[in-house]
Amino acid sequence: MSNQTGAIVQYSLDALLEDPSFLPDLQGETRAQAFTSLASILSTPNHIHKSFLRIALENGKIARIPSYRVQHNNTLGPYKGGIRFHESVNEEEVSNLAALMTLKNALHEVPFGGGKGGVSINPRDFTIKELHSIAQKYVHYFSDILGPDKDIPAPDVGTGDQEMDWMMAEYKSIRPGEPYRGSFTGKSVVNGGSLGRREATGKGVYFTFRYMLYNFLKDQKDLLTKTDNIFAKTALSLGEKPLKIAVQGFGNVGSIAALESYNCTSIQNKVVSVSDRNVTLYNSEGLDIPALIDFTSNNKGDLPTTAEQLDEHDIKANILDREEVLYLDVDVLILAALEDQIHQDNMDKIKAQIIVEGANAPVTGDADKYLSDKGVIIIPDILANAGGVIVSYFEWLQGRETQFYSEEEVFKLLFDKMKMTMDTILPQFFGDPYPLRQNCYIHAVMKLSTILYRQGKLY
Ligand code: GLU
Repeated sequence: MSNQTGAIVQYSLDALLEDPSFLPDLQGETRAQAFTSLASILSTPNHIHKSFLRIALENGKIARIPSYRVQHNNTLGPYKGGIRFHESVNEEEVSNLAALMTLKNALHEVPFGGGKGGVSINPRDFTIKELHSIAQKYVHYFSDILGPDKDIPAPDVGTGDQEMDWMMAEYKSIRPGEPYRGSFTGKSVVNGGSLGRREATGKGVYFTFRYMLYNFLKDQKDLLTKTDNIFAKTALSLGEKPLKIAVQGFGNVGSIAALESYNCTSIQNKVVSVSDRNVTLYNSEGLDIPALIDFTSNNKGDLPTTAEQLDEHDIKANILDREEVLYLDVDVLILAALEDQIHQDNMDKIKAQIIVEGANAPVTGDADKYLSDKGVIIIPDILANAGGVIVSYFEWLQGRETQFYSEEEVFKLLFDKMKMTMDTILPQFFGDPYPLRQNCYIHAVMKLSTILYRQGKLY
């Protein structure tokens, strides 16, 4: 992942420069100076912390594992963002992902800044005991900079509630007597996690698509029919027919987004394809998503890869190469795997008219521009996948109050919050010439800059 965030921040600032309602008190050179300060604040992280975790492996060897915590910006509150365990983790990637967290939280009015952590391993290469000691060491090495009011990690690619439970326990033992429940979110429910946190990202991803295409479109049909905005035309053309949906990635985000769509029987859409690191499965009549979830939960998270496995579980699907999911003749493509999946070399093969970014940064800047120019609606990561951090915020609040919300309450609060953001962004999006990503960035940057300006930090 290149420095896409810096480039898009600049792209939003260029649009804001033209907007007289933005920092209206500033003119001429002072205004230019404020823009320079803002660009430098947002395109560089406040702190980059890195370390080599020294781990004794069960085979007697010692591993030295590169690990990072990047604290991008804390204008809105403590740094917040996941810790990823993945072999592609490096400083630049973690820094870009931390910047996305700043913008995501600002967009949805979550009172946190942006941060991200990473450990450069393939977790499948380590035993449970070794993963436990990696999690403990991570907290041990970074304990000075973490804490419920400083920087609050959460799960990300390759981590889940088990890692958060281990990390919270380590934090608690390093800092006896201090509040610890809000130090990590995404914990298991028995350890102070929130009901609904595990499903929150996937549910939120599906909600953004459904809300835009059905609720918002229905209410605003007159308005949308009158404009000649290309995205309004795309939305109107899709809003009235049953849609074919493909989902790349069948982990915590992709499987739940697919299940939400499968369960939403009031709309006649079909999930015709899902994929994971090994395979794409396809059935033009729609896949049996609950059966596939059941299969993965008994098969280390992997989808079936052979005709025998499919037959044995009575699942009807064709087996295709894992990349094929991207190029199928579908209306909607939900990207819930890793970053940089649609790029300059494959962007012309995409047929979907709506792309929903369940993962962070799965579409590169070039591909975003190319597809948006053709009228493809891309619901960007910071809008679509914020369900996780929004429910992390509820978990943090519940930890402070030592009072817990029911699952129903959590989902209601989540959808209300996402709806509020969508209701602010969508009228602008269908009314002005900018793609949805740029609209979201403009909104987030506007919010951050107004606060920074009031704090006297834009000189
Ligand atoms: N890792 C998730 C994200 O990228 C969740 C972060 C959080 O809950 O802090 O948004």
